[in-house]
Amino acid sequence: AELRAAFPYFAAHDASAARTGAPTPAYLDAAATSQRPAEVLDAERRFLETANAAVHRGTSGAVGTATEAFEGARAAVARFVGAAAPEQIVWAENATDALNIVALGIAEANAGLGLAGSERFALGPGDEILVTEAEHHANLIPWQRLAAKTGASFRYIPAREDGTWSLDDARAALNERTRIFAFAHVSNATGYVAPVAELAELARSVGALTVLDACQSVPHIPVDFAALGVDFAAFSGHKMLGPNGIGVLYGRPELLAALPPSRTGGSAITKVTMERADFMPPPMRFEPGTQPVSQVVGLGAAVSFLEAVGMERAAAREHELVERLVAGIAATPGVRLLGPSDPAHRIALAAVSIEGLHAHDVGQFLDEQGVLVRVGHHCAQPLHRALGITSSTRASVHLTTTEDEVDRFLDAIRGAQRYFGVEVAA
Ligand code: PMP
Repeated sequence: AELRAAFPYFAAHDASAARTGAPTPAYLDAAATSQRPAEVLDAERRFLETANAAVHRGTSGAVGTATEAFEGARAAVARFVGAAAPEQIVWAENATDALNIVALGIAEANAGLGLAGSERFALGPGDEILVTEAEHHANLIPWQRLAAKTGASFRYIPAREDGTWSLDDARAALNERTRIFAFAHVSNATGYVAPVAELAELARSVGALTVLDACQSVPHIPVDFAALGVDFAAFSGHKMLGPNGIGVLYGRPELLAALPPSRTGGSAITKVTMERADFMPPPMRFEPGTQPVSQVVGLGAAVSFLEAVGMERAAAREHELVERLVAGIAATPGVRLLGPSDPAHRIALAAVSIEGLHAHDVGQFLDEQGVLVRVGHHCAQPLHRALGITSSTRASVHLTTTEDEVDRFLDAIRGAQRYFGVEVAA
């Protein structure tokens, strides 16, 4: 209750519900976007009101103060995800953009431009890019395109019947031709947690780079990219209590230093002539143009908030909620749970397919009950196709979710079955 009160969104809705007697919305869509605590909203506003200036441009004291706030947030994010140095953190628009910086950078390295460091990313016919069938489109399409541009083969680890895949599946798919292995730490459709450290070790043993989509892990569990041994990782501010319009790319220093910037322009360079440009070291070589400064400051505040709560504590709390969610779904006939049935292998969410009902009908019914979830393919069309469905209904929890909200979701899906007259075998 104390945590919820720190979020103006929940405080406002809870107060209005208390006034009108209507149920407060059960916000079970944090996997799509999370709500922000007052600290985050205030940090952004305070920065804009008192310290806004053109970061990294000019010599005034005001610019220095704004730059300190901007770079302080980078250091905070670095610490939060186990990066040894702030320079390993590159600002992007969101996770999608961060993943594109890697894929487009590798394409640039192979475009015959003679850019320094490009050899590290040589990719062509005979090489393989490996993903899984469970990826979010953001960690799928950039790699399809990179394969098409370079002539490398595009391969994937097929999803099993429950939408998961295993270390053994990866072992069978990785080989000495694999150059890039891109996968999600936690699937946004099944909640499945991949054994990242073991997978990164396997990839390293065949000389492949690992690119981790950490969108659904960083907001929920303690994550240390250095300890996990991944080469690149991406996540979004808006799913971890932070602002929209800010995402993060983490990279190993020597790889970021060798990766060509795919977007170029002002402030990312050291020397420009009418013929060519030399780029700054990372992270600034990847941050051309004016940056989303207040969003960066807000993300720094989100990290402080999460650190104050404690990620171990948040993870333990969310795990209880997920156990309750999975147990309730398992006890509901006619409802198929996507992903692992053992909650020990999943984080933060559960998506279901209800026999005889389209997810959009379910979503509309749930909305009428004030239960806010995500329906559709969740940007994971290939996974849904592999599971023989076109869409699902996803409930996701966060550190502010209550048991009551979980129960309201479970009641509402049973209510939808009754409302639409679905016959379920007892
Ligand atoms: N990967 C995963 C696993 C996600 O859940 C999401 C967000 N749905 C993304 C990538 C893309 O994040 P964004 O839209 O913030 O770029």
